[in-house]
Amino acid sequence: EPLLTLEQVGKKYANKIALHDVNFNIYPGEFVALVGMSGGGKSTILRLIAQLEQPTGGRIKFHDETTTVRVMFQNDRLLPWMTNLENISFNSKNKVQQKRAQAMLNEVGLAEFADSYPNQLSGGQKQRLALARALMAKPKLLLLDEPLGALDALTRRKMQAFIADICAKQQLTTLLITHDVDEAARMADRVFVVKDGTNVYEADGAKNQDAA
Ligand code: ADP
Ligand code: ADP
Repeated sequence: EPLLTLEQVGKKYANKIALHDVNFNIYPGEFVALVGMSGGGKSTILRLIAQLEQPTGGRIKFHDETTTVRVMFQNDRLLPWMTNLENISFNSKNKVQQKRAQAMLNEVGLAEFADSYPNQLSGGQKQRLALARALMAKPKLLLLDEPLGALDALTRRKMQAFIADICAKQQLTTLLITHDVDEAARMADRVFVVKDGTNVYEADGAKNQDAA
């Protein structure tokens, strides 16, 4: 069964209908992308799924109520006064937590940067650190809000592959928001096009086409 179902989801603000009829399922382990032009409603869908806001119509159903959700934003705030390791271990003194944090740094290729600080990292490395921090919480559902928007084209390309691989390896259920159609197609199993407050079209991503 799906991890998450959106049924006729709507969201009205004071003078603005941001969403009017959003319908889709996300299945466990899938990588889904929402793509579309600015203003179409992608971020609003993500905020509703993250329960940062409530829908004004329809419903959002998590089939397992214990599902934990973690969001990674474009400018995920890394704490500049903490080392990279402390940023993802939340400065925990717990030995198990520290070991996990170190293992997670290895996983994202930042092992040798444990004791340096976020400001000493490149843009791509910062995003890998932010990803490691999101994964430390062991979310069942990872929401990625334009995570690569600030990166140069080459770094962006590398990070697309990196994030898609790590999500697949960890069998994470992932929802990516992007305005970049190529990025969505490369990273996702399924792509939903969001336009004028509704999901208008569904396509297979490259990962599914490889498998077919
Ligand atoms: P996208 O992420 O696809 O760019 P958004 O979800 O940010 O689209 O926005 C969808 C529409 O809802 C836009 O017209 C936007 O201006 C509007 N909107 C988003 N948040 C608010 C808000 N807090 N108050 C009023 N309108 C909003
Ligand atoms: P975009 O995703 O289109 O780049 P932003 O990230 O600037 O746009 O945010 C779009 C909307 O989401 C804004 O209305 C902003 O206030 C809201 N928003 C962004 N981050 C958060 C957050 N952590 N919690 C709640 N709302 C947020």
